[in-house]
Amino acid sequence: MQDLFQVSAFVWFTAATAVYVVVLTYNNLRASAQLARTSLLEREELRARTAEIMARIQSEQERTELSWNGFRKFEIAEKQPEADGSIFSFYLKPHDSRPLPPFRPGQFLTFRLHLPDETKPLIRCYSLSDSPKTDYYRVSIKKVPPPRDKPELPPGRSSSFFHDHLEKGDILDVKAPSGHFFLDTSVQTPIVLIGGGVGLTPVLSMLNAVVDSASKREVWFFLGVRNSIEHPMKEHLESLARENENLHLCICYSNPTENCVEGRDYQHGGHVGVDLMKERLKSNNYEFYFCGPPPMMNALDEQLKAWGVPDERINYEAFGPATVKRLKEPQEPGSAQQAFTVTFTKSEKSVAWDPEVGSLLDFAEDQGIAIDSGCRAGNCGTCLTAIQSGEVEYVGTPGEMPERGSCLVCLSVPKSDLKLDA
Ligand SMILES: Cc1cc2nc3c(=O)[nH]c(=O)nc-3n(C[C@H](O)[C@H](O)[C@H](O)COP(=O)(O)OP(=O)(O)OC[C@H]3O[C@@H](n4cnc5c(N)ncnc54)[C@H](O)[C@@H]3O)c2cc1C
Repeated sequence: MQDLFQVSAFVWFTAATAVYVVVLTYNNLRASAQLARTSLLEREELRARTAEIMARIQSEQERTELSWNGFRKFEIAEKQPEADGSIFSFYLKPHDSRPLPPFRPGQFLTFRLHLPDETKPLIRCYSLSDSPKTDYYRVSIKKVPPPRDKPELPPGRSSSFFHDHLEKGDILDVKAPSGHFFLDTSVQTPIVLIGGGVGLTPVLSMLNAVVDSASKREVWFFLGVRNSIEHPMKEHLESLARENENLHLCICYSNPTENCVEGRDYQHGGHVGVDLMKERLKSNNYEFYFCGPPPMMNALDEQLKAWGVPDERINYEAFGPATVKRLKEPQEPGSAQQAFTVTFTKSEKSVAWDPEVGSLLDFAEDQGIAIDSGCRAGNCGTCLTAIQSGEVEYVGTPGEMPERGSCLVCLSVPKSDLKLDA
Protein backbone atom coordinates (compact mmCIF):
# COMPACT_ATOMS: atom_id res chain seq x y z
CA MET A 1 0.00 0.00 0.00
CA GLN A 2 2.84 2.27 1.00
CA ASP A 3 4.64 1.31 -2.28
CA LEU A 4 1.57 2.20 -4.29
CA PHE A 5 1.36 5.55 -2.51
CA GLN A 6 5.02 6.25 -3.19
CA VAL A 7 4.70 5.30 -6.89
CA SER A 8 1.63 7.49 -7.42
CA ALA A 9 3.28 10.39 -5.53
CA PHE A 10 6.32 9.98 -7.81
CA VAL A 11 4.12 9.95 -10.92
CA TRP A 12 2.24 13.07 -9.77
CA PHE A 13 5.47 14.85 -8.91
CA THR A 14 7.02 13.97 -12.28
CA ALA A 15 3.88 15.04 -14.16
CA ALA A 16 3.63 18.33 -12.21
CA THR A 17 7.31 19.04 -12.84
CA ALA A 18 6.88 18.30 -16.54
CA VAL A 19 3.85 20.63 -16.75
CA TYR A 20 5.78 23.32 -14.85
CA VAL A 21 8.75 22.96 -17.20
CA VAL A 22 6.51 23.07 -20.27
CA VAL A 23 4.65 26.17 -18.98
CA LEU A 24 7.93 27.86 -18.06
CA THR A 25 9.48 27.06 -21.42
CA TYR A 26 6.34 28.23 -23.24
CA ASN A 27 6.30 31.49 -21.29
CA ASN A 28 9.99 32.01 -21.90
CA LEU A 29 9.57 31.30 -25.58
CA ARG A 30 6.57 33.66 -25.72
CA ALA A 31 8.51 36.35 -23.89
CA SER A 32 11.51 36.04 -26.21
CA ALA A 33 9.23 35.98 -29.28
CA GLN A 34 7.54 39.11 -27.93
CA LEU A 35 10.94 40.68 -27.35
CA ALA A 36 12.05 39.75 -30.84
CA ARG A 37 8.83 41.20 -32.23
CA THR A 38 9.22 44.39 -30.22
CA SER A 39 12.80 44.89 -31.21
CA LEU A 40 11.88 44.08 -34.81
CA LEU A 41 9.20 46.76 -34.66
CA GLU A 42 11.57 49.15 -33.00
CA ARG A 43 14.22 48.38 -35.59
CA GLU A 44 11.70 48.94 -38.41
CA GLU A 45 10.60 52.22 -36.86
CA LEU A 46 14.20 53.29 -36.46
CA ARG A 47 14.94 52.31 -40.06
CA ALA A 48 11.89 54.29 -41.28
CA ARG A 49 12.92 57.31 -39.22
CA THR A 50 16.49 57.10 -40.51
CA ALA A 51 15.21 56.83 -44.09
CA GLU A 52 13.02 59.88 -43.46
CA ILE A 53 15.93 61.89 -42.11
CA MET A 54 18.20 60.76 -44.96
CA ALA A 55 15.54 61.70 -47.54
CA ARG A 56 15.18 65.09 -45.88
CA ILE A 57 18.95 65.66 -45.85
CA GLN A 58 19.19 64.53 -49.46
CA SER A 59 16.41 66.82 -50.66
CA GLU A 60 17.84 69.66 -48.56
CA GLN A 61 21.21 69.06 -50.23
CA GLU A 62 19.63 68.95 -53.69
CA ARG A 63 17.69 72.11 -52.90
CA THR A 64 20.86 73.93 -51.92
CA GLU A 65 22.95 72.57 -54.79
CA LEU A 66 20.37 73.20 -57.51
CA SER A 67 18.97 76.48 -56.26
CA TRP A 68 20.04 79.81 -57.74
CA ASN A 69 20.52 83.40 -56.67
CA GLY A 70 18.73 86.26 -58.35
CA PHE A 71 16.71 85.66 -61.51
CA ARG A 72 16.99 82.69 -63.88
CA LYS A 73 15.56 82.46 -67.38
CA PHE A 74 12.55 80.19 -67.86
CA GLU A 75 10.68 79.45 -71.07
CA ILE A 76 6.91 79.01 -71.19
CA ALA A 77 6.61 75.41 -72.39
CA GLU A 78 2.82 75.35 -72.29
CA LYS A 79 -0.06 77.71 -71.55
CA GLN A 80 -3.29 75.98 -70.62
CA PRO A 81 -6.71 77.42 -69.73
CA GLU A 82 -8.39 76.12 -66.57
CA ALA A 83 -12.19 76.08 -66.06
CA ASP A 84 -13.78 79.05 -67.87
CA GLY A 85 -10.42 80.53 -68.87
CA SER A 86 -10.31 83.00 -65.97
CA ILE A 87 -7.27 81.01 -64.82
CA PHE A 88 -4.37 79.96 -67.03
CA SER A 89 -1.70 77.44 -66.04
CA PHE A 90 1.83 78.14 -67.26
CA TYR A 91 4.35 75.31 -67.50
CA LEU A 92 7.85 76.74 -67.16
CA LYS A 93 11.06 75.02 -68.22
CA PRO A 94 14.51 76.32 -67.28
CA HIS A 95 16.12 77.88 -70.35
CA ASP A 96 19.49 76.33 -69.37
CA SER A 97 17.84 72.85 -69.17
CA ARG A 98 19.59 72.15 -65.87
CA PRO A 99 17.55 70.21 -63.26
CA LEU A 100 15.34 72.13 -60.89
CA PRO A 101 15.65 72.13 -57.10
CA PRO A 102 12.90 70.23 -55.28
CA PHE A 103 10.73 72.99 -53.81
CA ARG A 104 8.52 72.48 -50.77
CA PRO A 105 4.85 72.10 -51.78
CA GLY A 106 3.10 75.39 -50.98
CA GLN A 107 6.01 77.64 -51.95
CA PHE A 108 5.90 80.30 -54.66
CA LEU A 109 7.96 81.78 -57.49
CA THR A 110 8.82 85.47 -57.82
CA PHE A 111 8.68 86.93 -61.35
CA ARG A 112 10.30 90.05 -62.75
CA LEU A 113 8.10 91.23 -65.58
CA HIS A 114 8.99 93.76 -68.26
CA LEU A 115 5.65 95.19 -69.27
CA PRO A 116 5.32 97.11 -72.54
CA ASP A 117 5.27 100.87 -71.96
CA GLU A 118 6.62 100.55 -68.41
CA THR A 119 10.16 101.57 -67.60
CA LYS A 120 10.38 99.80 -64.25
CA PRO A 121 10.02 96.03 -64.05
CA LEU A 122 7.03 94.69 -62.10
CA ILE A 123 7.60 92.09 -59.39
CA ARG A 124 4.87 89.54 -58.64
CA CYS A 125 4.70 86.20 -56.84
CA TYR A 126 2.75 83.12 -57.95
CA SER A 127 2.40 79.87 -56.01
CA LEU A 128 3.63 76.67 -57.57
CA SER A 129 0.49 74.71 -58.34
CA ASP A 130 1.88 71.22 -58.97
CA SER A 131 4.05 68.81 -56.97
CA PRO A 132 7.84 69.24 -57.27
CA LYS A 133 9.24 68.04 -60.62
CA THR A 134 12.83 68.09 -61.80
CA ASP A 135 12.12 69.46 -65.28
CA TYR A 136 9.34 72.01 -64.99
CA TYR A 137 7.42 74.29 -62.66
CA ARG A 138 3.75 75.17 -62.98
CA VAL A 139 1.94 78.30 -61.86
CA SER A 140 -1.78 78.97 -62.30
CA ILE A 141 -2.79 82.60 -62.60
CA LYS A 142 -6.18 84.27 -62.38
CA LYS A 143 -6.76 87.45 -64.35
CA VAL A 144 -7.64 90.08 -61.75
CA PRO A 145 -10.55 92.28 -62.89
CA PRO A 146 -11.00 95.91 -61.80
CA PRO A 147 -12.61 96.37 -58.38
CA ARG A 148 -16.43 95.96 -58.51
CA ASP A 149 -17.04 99.53 -57.39
CA LYS A 150 -14.53 100.98 -59.88
CA PRO A 151 -15.07 99.16 -63.19
CA GLU A 152 -13.41 102.04 -65.02
CA LEU A 153 -9.97 101.08 -63.64
CA PRO A 154 -7.66 98.85 -65.67
CA PRO A 155 -7.49 95.15 -64.69
CA GLY A 156 -4.47 93.71 -62.84
CA ARG A 157 -1.23 94.49 -64.70
CA SER A 158 0.74 91.32 -64.14
CA SER A 159 -2.15 88.87 -64.39
CA SER A 160 -3.40 90.57 -67.61
CA PHE A 161 0.13 90.45 -69.02
CA PHE A 162 0.29 86.70 -68.36
CA HIS A 163 -3.16 86.09 -69.84
CA ASP A 164 -3.14 88.44 -72.80
CA HIS A 165 0.51 88.78 -73.87
CA LEU A 166 2.57 85.81 -72.78
CA GLU A 167 2.60 82.71 -74.96
CA LYS A 168 4.45 79.42 -75.38
CA GLY A 169 8.12 80.12 -76.10
CA ASP A 170 8.27 83.44 -74.23
CA ILE A 171 11.09 83.87 -71.70
CA LEU A 172 10.60 85.00 -68.11
CA ASP A 173 12.89 86.05 -65.23
CA VAL A 174 12.18 83.89 -62.20
CA LYS A 175 13.60 83.71 -58.65
CA ALA A 176 14.07 80.37 -56.94
CA PRO A 177 11.07 78.96 -55.01
CA SER A 178 10.62 80.40 -51.55
CA GLY A 179 8.05 80.84 -48.80
CA HIS A 180 7.21 79.55 -45.34
CA PHE A 181 3.80 78.18 -46.16
CA PHE A 182 4.57 74.59 -47.06
CA LEU A 183 3.71 71.03 -46.15
CA ASP A 184 6.16 68.71 -44.47
CA THR A 185 5.83 65.62 -46.66
CA SER A 186 8.08 63.51 -44.47
CA VAL A 187 5.46 63.08 -41.74
CA GLN A 188 2.09 61.36 -41.87
CA THR A 189 -0.06 63.74 -39.76
CA PRO A 190 -3.65 63.99 -41.07
CA ILE A 191 -4.23 67.25 -42.92
CA VAL A 192 -7.02 69.52 -44.04
CA LEU A 193 -6.27 71.56 -47.16
CA ILE A 194 -8.60 74.45 -47.96
CA GLY A 195 -8.54 76.60 -51.09
CA GLY A 196 -10.83 79.47 -52.03
CA GLY A 197 -10.93 80.32 -55.75
CA VAL A 198 -7.44 80.70 -57.19
CA GLY A 199 -6.16 80.27 -53.61
CA LEU A 200 -6.31 76.58 -54.36
CA THR A 201 -2.86 76.75 -56.02
CA PRO A 202 -0.57 76.19 -53.00
CA VAL A 203 -2.85 73.58 -51.41
CA LEU A 204 -3.18 71.78 -54.75
CA SER A 205 0.61 71.55 -54.85
CA MET A 206 0.48 70.00 -51.37
CA LEU A 207 -2.23 67.56 -52.41
CA ASN A 208 -0.37 66.50 -55.57
CA ALA A 209 2.82 66.03 -53.55
CA VAL A 210 1.05 63.72 -51.05
CA VAL A 211 -0.48 61.68 -53.85
CA ASP A 212 2.75 61.50 -55.88
CA SER A 213 4.68 60.24 -52.86
CA ALA A 214 2.14 57.36 -52.48
CA SER A 215 1.64 58.47 -48.87
CA LYS A 216 -1.47 57.11 -47.20
CA ARG A 217 -1.86 60.06 -44.83
CA GLU A 218 -5.45 61.19 -44.38
CA VAL A 219 -6.18 64.27 -46.52
CA TRP A 220 -9.31 66.37 -46.63
CA PHE A 221 -9.46 68.82 -49.51
CA PHE A 222 -12.07 71.60 -49.33
CA LEU A 223 -12.43 73.90 -52.32
CA GLY A 224 -14.74 76.91 -52.34
CA VAL A 225 -15.81 78.33 -55.72
CA ARG A 226 -19.01 79.88 -57.04
CA ASN A 227 -20.11 77.10 -59.37
CA SER A 228 -19.00 74.59 -62.00
CA ILE A 229 -18.16 77.36 -64.48
CA GLU A 230 -15.40 78.62 -62.17
CA HIS A 231 -14.33 75.21 -60.87
CA PRO A 232 -10.60 74.84 -61.64
CA MET A 233 -8.85 71.48 -62.00
CA LYS A 234 -12.24 69.71 -61.69
CA GLU A 235 -11.33 66.51 -63.56
CA HIS A 236 -7.92 66.27 -61.95
CA LEU A 237 -9.38 66.53 -58.43
CA GLU A 238 -12.15 64.05 -59.17
CA SER A 239 -9.75 61.48 -60.56
CA LEU A 240 -7.42 61.86 -57.55
CA ALA A 241 -10.38 61.29 -55.21
CA ARG A 242 -11.43 58.17 -57.17
CA GLU A 243 -7.93 56.70 -57.07
CA ASN A 244 -6.92 57.54 -53.49
CA GLU A 245 -8.95 56.21 -50.58
CA ASN A 246 -7.09 58.45 -48.13
CA LEU A 247 -8.28 61.58 -49.99
CA HIS A 248 -11.67 63.09 -49.11
CA LEU A 249 -12.81 65.76 -51.52
CA CYS A 250 -15.41 68.35 -50.50
CA ILE A 251 -16.22 70.88 -53.21
CA CYS A 252 -18.37 73.79 -52.05
CA TYR A 253 -20.39 75.91 -54.51
CA SER A 254 -21.59 79.19 -53.04
CA ASN A 255 -23.76 79.97 -56.06
CA PRO A 256 -24.56 76.78 -58.01
CA THR A 257 -26.27 77.22 -61.39
CA GLU A 258 -29.16 75.03 -62.53
CA ASN A 259 -26.65 72.83 -64.38
CA CYS A 260 -24.64 72.10 -61.22
CA VAL A 261 -25.56 68.74 -59.68
CA GLU A 262 -24.97 68.21 -55.95
CA GLY A 263 -23.19 64.91 -55.37
CA ARG A 264 -21.78 64.96 -58.90
CA ASP A 265 -20.18 68.41 -59.31
CA TYR A 266 -20.08 69.48 -55.68
CA GLN A 267 -20.60 68.09 -52.20
CA HIS A 268 -21.87 71.15 -50.34
CA GLY A 269 -23.97 74.18 -51.30
CA GLY A 270 -22.54 77.19 -49.47
CA HIS A 271 -19.19 78.53 -48.32
CA VAL A 272 -16.33 76.52 -46.84
CA GLY A 273 -16.54 76.91 -43.07
CA VAL A 274 -15.78 75.20 -39.82
CA ASP A 275 -19.42 74.11 -39.28
CA LEU A 276 -19.07 72.02 -42.41
CA MET A 277 -15.78 70.58 -41.14
CA LYS A 278 -17.40 69.66 -37.82
CA GLU A 279 -19.94 67.62 -39.82
CA ARG A 280 -17.33 65.86 -41.97
CA LEU A 281 -14.22 65.42 -39.81
CA LYS A 282 -13.89 62.98 -36.91
CA SER A 283 -12.34 65.67 -34.70
CA ASN A 284 -10.31 68.87 -34.93
CA ASN A 285 -7.10 66.87 -34.65
CA TYR A 286 -5.64 67.85 -38.03
CA GLU A 287 -3.06 70.23 -39.44
CA PHE A 288 -4.96 72.95 -41.32
CA TYR A 289 -3.57 74.74 -44.40
CA PHE A 290 -5.60 77.38 -46.18
CA CYS A 291 -5.40 80.08 -48.80
CA GLY A 292 -8.19 82.14 -50.30
CA PRO A 293 -9.91 85.52 -50.35
CA PRO A 294 -9.55 87.68 -47.19
CA PRO A 295 -13.11 87.15 -45.83
CA MET A 296 -12.72 83.37 -46.07
CA MET A 297 -9.25 83.45 -44.47
CA ASN A 298 -10.36 85.64 -41.59
CA ALA A 299 -13.48 83.57 -40.94
CA LEU A 300 -11.55 80.30 -41.02
CA ASP A 301 -8.83 81.61 -38.75
CA GLU A 302 -11.38 82.75 -36.15
CA GLN A 303 -13.57 79.66 -36.42
CA LEU A 304 -10.68 77.21 -36.18
CA LYS A 305 -9.38 78.94 -33.07
CA ALA A 306 -12.88 78.91 -31.55
CA TRP A 307 -13.03 75.15 -32.32
CA GLY A 308 -9.94 74.72 -30.18
CA VAL A 309 -7.37 74.18 -32.94
CA PRO A 310 -4.01 75.34 -31.55
CA ASP A 311 -2.26 78.18 -33.42
CA GLU A 312 0.65 75.96 -34.45
CA ARG A 313 -1.72 73.73 -36.43
CA ILE A 314 -3.25 76.65 -38.35
CA ASN A 315 -1.20 77.53 -41.45
CA TYR A 316 -2.21 80.01 -44.12
CA GLU A 317 -0.92 81.98 -47.07
CA ALA A 318 -2.14 85.42 -47.99
CA PHE A 319 -2.15 86.44 -51.66
CA GLY A 320 -2.81 90.06 -50.85
CA PRO A 321 -1.75 92.65 -48.31
CA ALA A 322 -5.13 93.00 -46.63
CA THR A 323 -5.09 89.44 -45.39
CA VAL A 324 -1.55 89.64 -44.02
CA LYS A 325 -2.43 92.89 -42.32
CA ARG A 326 -5.43 91.56 -40.51
CA LEU A 327 -4.17 88.14 -39.60
CA LYS A 328 -0.64 88.84 -38.38
CA GLU A 329 -0.22 90.23 -34.89
CA PRO A 330 2.94 92.13 -33.91
CA GLN A 331 5.30 89.80 -32.02
CA GLU A 332 5.41 92.19 -29.06
CA PRO A 333 2.07 93.95 -29.36
CA GLY A 334 2.88 96.69 -26.83
CA SER A 335 5.92 98.09 -28.57
CA ALA A 336 4.29 98.81 -31.91
CA GLN A 337 1.59 100.91 -30.28
CA GLN A 338 3.87 103.78 -29.16
CA ALA A 339 3.92 107.23 -30.77
CA PHE A 340 6.90 107.06 -33.11
CA THR A 341 7.72 109.36 -35.99
CA VAL A 342 8.58 107.82 -39.33
CA THR A 343 10.61 109.95 -41.72
CA PHE A 344 10.82 109.06 -45.41
CA THR A 345 13.95 111.02 -46.30
CA LYS A 346 13.83 110.84 -50.13
CA SER A 347 10.20 111.91 -50.09
CA GLU A 348 10.95 114.52 -47.41
CA LYS A 349 8.00 113.47 -45.28
CA SER A 350 7.77 112.92 -41.50
CA VAL A 351 4.58 111.34 -40.18
CA ALA A 352 3.38 110.01 -36.80
CA TRP A 353 3.22 106.19 -36.99
CA ASP A 354 -0.26 104.74 -37.04
CA PRO A 355 -0.22 101.16 -35.64
CA GLU A 356 -3.65 100.47 -37.16
CA VAL A 357 -2.21 100.62 -40.69
CA GLY A 358 -0.30 97.35 -40.50
CA SER A 359 3.21 97.37 -41.92
CA LEU A 360 5.61 100.18 -42.83
CA LEU A 361 4.89 99.38 -46.48
CA ASP A 362 1.16 99.94 -46.03
CA PHE A 363 1.96 103.07 -44.04
CA ALA A 364 4.21 104.43 -46.81
CA GLU A 365 1.57 103.69 -49.46
CA ASP A 366 -1.08 105.46 -47.39
CA GLN A 367 1.22 108.51 -47.43
CA GLY A 368 1.51 108.31 -51.22
CA ILE A 369 5.10 107.06 -51.05
CA ALA A 370 5.76 104.31 -53.58
CA ILE A 371 8.06 101.49 -52.46
CA ASP A 372 8.52 98.53 -54.81
CA SER A 373 7.02 95.32 -53.39
CA GLY A 374 6.33 91.77 -54.47
CA CYS A 375 5.05 89.10 -52.11
CA ARG A 376 4.24 91.45 -49.22
CA ALA A 377 5.04 88.58 -46.90
CA GLY A 378 8.78 89.05 -46.30
CA ASN A 379 9.96 86.51 -48.81
CA CYS A 380 10.81 88.06 -52.16
CA GLY A 381 13.07 90.87 -50.84
CA THR A 382 11.69 93.48 -53.26
CA CYS A 383 10.72 95.99 -50.55
CA LEU A 384 14.15 95.95 -48.85
CA THR A 385 14.74 99.53 -47.66
CA ALA A 386 17.75 101.14 -45.97
CA ILE A 387 17.27 102.33 -42.38
CA GLN A 388 19.08 105.62 -41.85
CA SER A 389 18.34 105.72 -38.13
CA GLY A 390 16.13 103.94 -35.63
CA GLU A 391 14.96 100.37 -35.26
CA VAL A 392 12.19 98.15 -36.60
CA GLU A 393 10.59 94.95 -35.39
CA TYR A 394 9.12 92.18 -37.53
CA VAL A 395 5.47 91.17 -37.37
CA GLY A 396 6.19 87.85 -39.06
CA THR A 397 9.15 85.73 -40.02
CA PRO A 398 11.02 86.93 -43.14
CA GLY A 399 12.35 84.31 -45.56
CA GLU A 400 15.82 85.67 -44.86
CA MET A 401 16.60 88.24 -42.18
CA PRO A 402 18.09 91.34 -43.92
CA GLU A 403 21.50 92.72 -42.94
CA ARG A 404 21.58 95.28 -40.14
CA GLY A 405 20.86 98.70 -41.57
CA SER A 406 18.00 97.68 -43.83
CA CYS A 407 14.57 96.16 -43.41
CA LEU A 408 11.75 94.49 -45.30
CA VAL A 409 9.08 97.14 -44.95
CA CYS A 410 6.22 94.78 -45.87
CA LEU A 411 6.73 92.88 -42.64
CA SER A 412 8.04 95.44 -40.19
CA VAL A 413 6.82 98.18 -37.87
CA PRO A 414 8.85 100.88 -36.07
CA LYS A 415 10.38 100.12 -32.69
CA SER A 416 11.61 103.70 -32.25
CA ASP A 417 11.58 106.92 -34.26
CA LEU A 418 12.69 105.88 -37.71
CA LYS A 419 14.35 107.36 -40.79
CA LEU A 420 13.92 105.32 -43.97
CA ASP A 421 15.63 105.86 -47.31
CA ALA A 422 12.37 106.07 -49.28
C1 LIG B 1 2.83 84.47 -52.03
C2 LIG B 1 1.83 84.80 -53.11
C3 LIG B 1 1.38 83.80 -53.96
C4 LIG B 1 0.44 84.10 -54.95
N1 LIG B 1 -0.01 83.10 -55.77
C5 LIG B 1 -0.92 83.36 -56.72
C6 LIG B 1 -1.40 82.32 -57.57
O1 LIG B 1 -1.01 81.16 -57.46
N2 LIG B 1 -2.28 82.66 -58.55
C7 LIG B 1 -2.75 83.95 -58.70
O2 LIG B 1 -3.55 84.18 -59.61
N3 LIG B 1 -2.32 84.94 -57.89
C8 LIG B 1 -1.41 84.70 -56.92
N4 LIG B 1 -0.94 85.71 -56.12
C9 LIG B 1 -1.39 87.10 -56.37
C10 LIG B 1 -0.47 87.77 -57.41
O3 LIG B 1 0.83 87.89 -56.90
C11 LIG B 1 -0.91 89.20 -57.78
O4 LIG B 1 -1.11 89.93 -56.61
C12 LIG B 1 -2.19 89.21 -58.62
O5 LIG B 1 -2.00 88.49 -59.83
C13 LIG B 1 -2.60 90.65 -58.95
O6 LIG B 1 -1.52 91.31 -59.54
P1 LIG B 1 -1.72 92.23 -60.83
O7 LIG B 1 -0.43 92.88 -61.15
O8 LIG B 1 -2.42 91.47 -61.90
O9 LIG B 1 -2.76 93.29 -60.28
P2 LIG B 1 -2.42 94.83 -59.89
O10 LIG B 1 -1.97 95.58 -61.07
O11 LIG B 1 -1.57 94.81 -58.69
O12 LIG B 1 -3.91 95.33 -59.53
C14 LIG B 1 -4.61 94.82 -58.43
C15 LIG B 1 -6.02 95.42 -58.45
O13 LIG B 1 -5.93 96.84 -58.40
C16 LIG B 1 -6.80 97.39 -59.39
N5 LIG B 1 -6.28 98.72 -59.80
C17 LIG B 1 -5.68 99.07 -60.94
N6 LIG B 1 -5.39 100.40 -60.95
C18 LIG B 1 -5.81 100.87 -59.77
C19 LIG B 1 -5.84 102.15 -59.17
N7 LIG B 1 -5.32 103.20 -59.79
N8 LIG B 1 -6.36 102.24 -57.93
C20 LIG B 1 -6.88 101.21 -57.30
N9 LIG B 1 -6.90 99.96 -57.82
C21 LIG B 1 -6.38 99.81 -59.03
C22 LIG B 1 -6.82 96.38 -60.49
O14 LIG B 1 -7.97 96.52 -61.29
C23 LIG B 1 -6.84 95.10 -59.69
O15 LIG B 1 -8.14 94.82 -59.30
C24 LIG B 1 -0.02 85.43 -55.11
C25 LIG B 1 0.46 86.43 -54.26
C26 LIG B 1 1.36 86.12 -53.27
C27 LIG B 1 1.86 87.22 -52.37
